[in-house]
Amino acid sequence: MPDSMTIRETLFAGGELVRANGDDALTVRNPFDRSVLGRAPACGRADVDRAVRAARAAFDDGPWPRLPPGERGDWIDRLADEIERNAAHSAALVTDEIGQPATVAGYMNGIRPVQHLRYYARLARTLSGEEERVNVDREGSSLHLRRPLGVAALIVPWNHPQSSTTLKLGPALAAGCVVVIKPAPESPLDIFSLADAARAIGLPPGVINIVTGGAETGRALVSHPGVDKVAFTGSTAAGRDIASVAGARLIPATLELGGKSAAILLDDADLDVVVGSLRTASFGNTGQNCVALSRILVPESRYPRVVDALVDLARDLRMGDPKDPRTEVGPLVSERALARVTEMVGAAAAAGAAVHTRETPAPTGGCFFTPRVITGAAPDSPIAQEEIFGPAVTVHPYRDLDEGVRIANATGYGLAGAVYGADEERALAVARRVHTGSIGVNGYRPDLGSPFGGVKDSGLGREFGPDAIENYRESTSVFR
Ligand code: NAD
Repeated sequence: MPDSMTIRETLFAGGELVRANGDDALTVRNPFDRSVLGRAPACGRADVDRAVRAARAAFDDGPWPRLPPGERGDWIDRLADEIERNAAHSAALVTDEIGQPATVAGYMNGIRPVQHLRYYARLARTLSGEEERVNVDREGSSLHLRRPLGVAALIVPWNHPQSSTTLKLGPALAAGCVVVIKPAPESPLDIFSLADAARAIGLPPGVINIVTGGAETGRALVSHPGVDKVAFTGSTAAGRDIASVAGARLIPATLELGGKSAAILLDDADLDVVVGSLRTASFGNTGQNCVALSRILVPESRYPRVVDALVDLARDLRMGDPKDPRTEVGPLVSERALARVTEMVGAAAAAGAAVHTRETPAPTGGCFFTPRVITGAAPDSPIAQEEIFGPAVTVHPYRDLDEGVRIANATGYGLAGAVYGADEERALAVARRVHTGSIGVNGYRPDLGSPFGGVKDSGLGREFGPDAIENYRESTSVFR
């Protein structure tokens, strides 16, 4: 076995790396050259049980939920310092696991996770678990207690593995919860940086636990009676399954799911601004962002020019080795993803859509899919309705603004979006009409301070901001 392979044979439970039961393993392949990068356990029920029991003990009998929130903030800061020390390594490992371009990985899986943790460390210091409420029915006041919910299962996808985790871990730890993390089977290696950091700072055992595996491991976790809360980011299909299990168990679930977000160009939109923004907002991370602006809605009068500009953009994107800092479009995450995206775009072409692409072929040897601009697909056709999760956009003309907004809203999803126009007030007025969890004006740049999440099939609940801490607390009133 080559030295460069990362072989994990353990889960992380009760502060220790412990050998997984059984021999089931995930094989991790680098999608750039299809080489085997490493292995991690496909944890079964016994492993999940071990991790949940460790978390349960930490919550029921350990110090964590009983610490003053400010002390938890100090621990979270120490964790952030340790993660930061290892950030370049974690980001590089993510690039190898999923083919994520190095610049994206350096930010989303190096810098951002540290920022998330530091933000929630800061909020922890201002957190109060008790509030006097003036009574309405009689004189006096009642006491409102907010207490940590317990053991939280954090189930995350592969596309930004470190930052999807810290967006949950930060508020969960601040609230006083303990966690069992399950990364995606495509990226089960980088997450162990958290185990290393927890051990390095001497975090109380069982506060952070990690099990690796696929959907079966996730199901075992959600259905475990020791789990009190689920925070999930991933596809809508998996979200529905998790919500049904959580529903049957009557435990709360926060669900951050897929999207099919629209970019609405107004007649006065500056095309340079639009193209500059869509370069990353549509094609960034090789189109594998939940918030990707994958439907471009354009006034009829500007349609031919905008299509030309988008086709030029798709041809101009630099495709190649994700380790190269100049690379904008890397391989898709896996063979399976490549087959799915190829099939979706092929079906659109077979149904009569025009697929514009570059003449130069994609690099060979990896799971590459050349960026595509698709025109002539009906707004209600599968390619314009289903999440592609690859570097392909559909472009649709609209006659008037009412039709533009109607097309934007005519999808099952509602995660992100953007409106582009020179008159910002007018663009904002259009943004208000879009049924979505978040939307940008002249770009799409989420901010950690304001809630992020989806409506309709894009999810339930919100992350980001101080609000996220309430995802991990329950409320008890003491009436007096
Ligand atoms: P996925 O749903 O296949 O898997 C996500 C995670 O859930 C993985 O850890 C997986 O093993 C686990 N899982 C799958 N089925 C499960 C089940 N039935 N029970 C318990 N766990 C289960 O998604 P993915 O392919 O890893 O990620 C891509 C998807 O994630 C896209 O749809 C994307 O839009 C979405 N996403 C959403 C956001 C957001 O914030 N809304 C952010 C990133 C990604």
